[in-house]
Amino acid sequence: MVAAYTWHPGTGRVVSRWPVPVAMAPDELLSTWLVRVALSQGTDPLVLASHLWPRWRVWTIDFDRGISDERISRLARDSGIEAGKLSMASLLPIASAIGLESGAASAIWHWILALGSRNRKRHGGLQYCSLCLATDAQPYFRLQWRLAWHTCCAVHHVGLRDRCCHCQLPIEPNRLCAFDTMSTCSTCKRDLRQGVMLPASKAALAFQERADRVVITGSGSYGVHQLQVKEWFHLARYFLMLLRCAARRQISCLGKCLAGLVPGSCYLRPPITGLGFEMLPTSERSSFLESVGVLMQAGPEQLRSAAVANSLKDTSLRQGWRSLPPCIDDIVREMPQLMRSRNARKNSDPAPVSRQTVLYKWARLQRKMRRIS
Ligand SMILES: [Zn+2]
Ligand SMILES: [Zn+2]
Repeated sequence: MVAAYTWHPGTGRVVSRWPVPVAMAPDELLSTWLVRVALSQGTDPLVLASHLWPRWRVWTIDFDRGISDERISRLARDSGIEAGKLSMASLLPIASAIGLESGAASAIWHWILALGSRNRKRHGGLQYCSLCLATDAQPYFRLQWRLAWHTCCAVHHVGLRDRCCHCQLPIEPNRLCAFDTMSTCSTCKRDLRQGVMLPASKAALAFQERADRVVITGSGSYGVHQLQVKEWFHLARYFLMLLRCAARRQISCLGKCLAGLVPGSCYLRPPITGLGFEMLPTSERSSFLESVGVLMQAGPEQLRSAAVANSLKDTSLRQGWRSLPPCIDDIVREMPQLMRSRNARKNSDPAPVSRQTVLYKWARLQRKMRRIS
């Protein structure tokens, strides 16, 4: 019987050059499979990697974002798994489906959780479900636990965790040692399978499953518009931006417009850190995605009506975005333009800003200073 999978089927039994051949489980994430290979041989991930690729510090980078053909060939030769199958376990196929160009050098890839690596230390970027790990014959990490639109386990209907359930530090399988198991926390050495899991948000899970379907089938919809994967995710990203803008300025026409469409959106608060979406904790992403899902379902006609009813100007819906999704651009062009006199702007006192905006700017400034120091 073939086990259920979403992204790749894994491999059957393999014949490899290693003393203990390690097959890849369905949907297993490439980098964490390599950690599992190391632990199965009774060695550290660091030692195995330096044997495979001398002089390449693989655990200091996010190599799930793709590795060179030469290096993947070396891995294929030793593991007994074809290079194509190894690549399917990386994030590249999904990233290119949603519109990222392969080899993109950007520090953050949209919709892929950022590891925030500093040497071998990480700030986050990997989620897990304790119940999945507890029911695995051999615990392993799934590819989808690196996707930013994933906040729930669709099997157990619980919210994912992005920190150790004991010490609350990030999940770093790359720092495990030879005698650990895959479900060990690399910092406190306690078992991640013992975490108490909270029920999943139904709305966030609905959005997650819808987004998965879009990637798998190659298209999605917004009202009567049929969108390609890349366009659908661009639209979801636009709504995400709009909701974050509205959350920063609690009392605004935009906020009222969105609250009319998504009643829960008036309770959204901007992340105190002001970090990009791919660096936010699971719980904060989940709250925003619930509202994005409702906006996507509402469709363009409801958005147009709500924008007109709240007398929105074009700038409120544009928020400085140069490249709007075409179905949104059509609506924005119908909105009245905001006329602003340059002199009036220059002479007027700066508008008072909310406490939340000040905290957000302060957090950003502190992060900048930490980077400089
Ligand atoms: Zn699970
Ligand atoms: Zn821990």
